[in-house]
Amino acid sequence: MSTTIDNVQRIFCIGMNYVEHIRELSNEIPDTPAVFMKSPLSIVKPGEPIHVPAHGSGFQHEVEVVVKIGRQGRANSAAEAISFVSGVTLGLDLTLRNTQAELKKKGLPWEKCKAFEQSAPLGDFIPYSGSFRLDDISFGCRVNGEVRQQGTTSDMLFSIPVLIVELSKIWLLRPGDCIYTGTPPGIGPLKVGDTVEAYSERIGSFSWKIVA
Ligand code: MG
Repeated sequence: MSTTIDNVQRIFCIGMNYVEHIRELSNEIPDTPAVFMKSPLSIVKPGEPIHVPAHGSGFQHEVEVVVKIGRQGRANSAAEAISFVSGVTLGLDLTLRNTQAELKKKGLPWEKCKAFEQSAPLGDFIPYSGSFRLDDISFGCRVNGEVRQQGTTSDMLFSIPVLIVELSKIWLLRPGDCIYTGTPPGIGPLKVGDTVEAYSERIGSFSWKIVA
């Protein structure tokens, strides 16, 4: 099945896709989507423990809507892009924020702050075939039951179809590719003992425990 976590291939992540999140980090609004990647080996399934990384500092959650690509090709238009989506879920783009700031200052790549071991908790995909709007998904993040992030995909700077078109200009999309589509405001710290939950009425709820 193309909608399971098990056959995820590449993980594309979009940075700075919600204006209020860009403001909270004092970043500039990008002209085109900012893209980085994580390895599928960094996926953590719901319910599996997440170990706090021993390197770096400023361990934070970023809840994101994640779409899965179901066919090979390049989408030339937003209308066509919808047909590439075979599944939708939520994920956490776990980030070492202080480490990221240091890497940014030095102009170095982001793998140490974004693509470390267990940096990509990912929920179970629900199959998608155009059955609901991708630009109207409410979702959020709770830590120990307290709401930290609350957003809607209608606030995206670059919509999901536009992201697929933009990625198609660079990569030949393939079944199993996933896109973490950016985080709304409210990012915050995670520590040992926390339970972090990504939730959406439309998609479901997935949680993880942070351990030493
Ligand atoms: Mg992110």
